[in-house]
Amino acid sequence: MLVVMNQNATEEQIQNVARVIESKGFISRISVGEIRTVISAIGTKHIDERDFELLSGVAEVIKLKTNYKLTAREFQNEDTIVEVNGVKFGGKYTGLIAGPCAVESYDQVDKTAEELKKSNLKILRGGAYKPRTSPYAFQGMGEEGLKILRSVADNHGMAIATEIMDISQIEKFMKYVDIFQVGARNMQNFNLLKELGKIHKPVILKRGLSSTYEEWLMSAEYIMSGGNGQIILCERGIRTFETYTRNTLDLAAIPVIKKLSHLPIIVDPSHGTGLRDKVEPMSRAAIAAGCDGLIIEVHYNPDCAMCDGAQSLYPSQYDALYNEIKQIAPIVGKEIL
Ligand code: PEP
Ligand code: MN
Repeated sequence: MLVVMNQNATEEQIQNVARVIESKGFISRISVGEIRTVISAIGTKHIDERDFELLSGVAEVIKLKTNYKLTAREFQNEDTIVEVNGVKFGGKYTGLIAGPCAVESYDQVDKTAEELKKSNLKILRGGAYKPRTSPYAFQGMGEEGLKILRSVADNHGMAIATEIMDISQIEKFMKYVDIFQVGARNMQNFNLLKELGKIHKPVILKRGLSSTYEEWLMSAEYIMSGGNGQIILCERGIRTFETYTRNTLDLAAIPVIKKLSHLPIIVDPSHGTGLRDKVEPMSRAAIAAGCDGLIIEVHYNPDCAMCDGAQSLYPSQYDALYNEIKQIAPIVGKEIL
């Protein structure tokens, strides 16, 4: 709910409205505009706007149509910037994350990280717990995989992003992981989201395979309402009638989410297309559309990858792409650190 004050409302009247908002269990945020002051009531309880309409100094009370609140642009006009290992996502910054689909061995992660370091990579990705369609497919190395990621990343001065699948893994992840990734299949695992709201580490929230923008933001709301505002949304392609590409990468999500929310949005062109030769053009397009970052699968030898080799770039391709997007980003007012 937004309370719009009269043009000549006094400071006392403004403070009184804020007090009443807080007395009803909401957080109040005062935005002083050039002409009017607007006070937002932030919270998830039901609120009766009539309680405010008659308070002195109030011009209008606006009930928001959206169900998401804390993640909405209305509540926070300035962009949220998530920073990890000197890399920033959001505002004028574009962050990069790259690495293999899955952790396969120490050697594989180390060789890949060594290559990526040449392209100035600061955040390494890699799945230790893999959500696979088939129960017979490689499920990931588990905790051993987390240890490998941590040790390789430490050796190269990198941070790590890796997928968490279950609440029971949170404690382990706290020991090893810098960025918790919630995969597309878990976007509506509400119990997991609630628990991630209690931690103090950034969360990448991937868009569900068939989720609308509103459903996606509602999932982010679960994390944020628990107290964790360090959320990075990730567009990774959705299911459509088209089967040529693995998914249909919805780049319109970038301007849409930026309008609806203050949270940073990054793009995963690897899962979004499923084909290595489509990753480079879609990355360029995502940067041109103003995304706040990219997460890209890279393997030192994709032909031998245990998982998603066809969509993984060769390190030389990543390096070429890195040099291209560094030139594109400033055209749309963004900076790649
Ligand atoms: C991944 O990034 O490794 C992954 C499984 O992605 P998604 O959840 O988007 O399918
Ligand atoms: Mn993958």
